[in-house]
Amino acid sequence: MKMRLAKSLLIAAGLTPVLALASHWSYEGHGSPEHWGELSNEFKECQAGKNQSPIDITSALDAHIAPLDVHYSQSPVALLNNGHTVQASFDQKANNIVDFDNIKVDLQQFHFHAPSENTIHGKHAAMEMHLVHKENNGDVVVVAVMFDIGAENPALAELWKQMPQQADKSAPLTTKIDMNTLLPADKTYWRFSGSLTTPPCSEGVTWLVMKHPLTMSEAQLQQFKTVMHHDNNRPVQPLHGRVVVE
Ligand SMILES: [Zn+2]
Repeated sequence: MKMRLAKSLLIAAGLTPVLALASHWSYEGHGSPEHWGELSNEFKECQAGKNQSPIDITSALDAHIAPLDVHYSQSPVALLNNGHTVQASFDQKANNIVDFDNIKVDLQQFHFHAPSENTIHGKHAAMEMHLVHKENNGDVVVVAVMFDIGAENPALAELWKQMPQQADKSAPLTTKIDMNTLLPADKTYWRFSGSLTTPPCSEGVTWLVMKHPLTMSEAQLQQFKTVMHHDNNRPVQPLHGRVVVE
């Protein structure tokens, strides 16, 4: 329905339907991040929103936030290469909870961006992992973990063994990952409000960026980049008065 409408608008504007393909968002070419807001009515927030992610973290207000209270378990994960990222999801019995603001949020999926989307003092990490949690009311809380180049990461090694090489391919639930190994030992973090970093760029997302990075080897980074074919980070967005707290 959405595609058909976009196509007829383009034809009305005297453009060829071939250009309707432009309504597919991507990280390069016609569908690149600076055009997301124009690709579809549903993506308007990507352009008009005032609380967009990612951001550059340059200063933080000291609010004495306690370290993140995580209750992750060992869970079987399935991997999907959706063309935009490699995303891991769980079977229904998985129980990975974060206690946050006296509510429990439930880990739904995690995925990767290289280079990092959020930056710290203008600097990208080699890769950023987004652990996407949901509250019962549907609100989204994303825990972000940065990866610097260094020692090989054993949990990533397990995941990458199963990484689907082609877009729209998935690998089944055979890899068991101890989710605790995908978090730094020091669980201090920066907190701010933002959005999804992919269309429709919906706002009202709580971001918790872990201050301490994990490491991955250069070979592990290259393996991810080879499968993605291109960088998959949205550029940083204006703060518009938002404050980062720690
Ligand atoms: Zn993400």
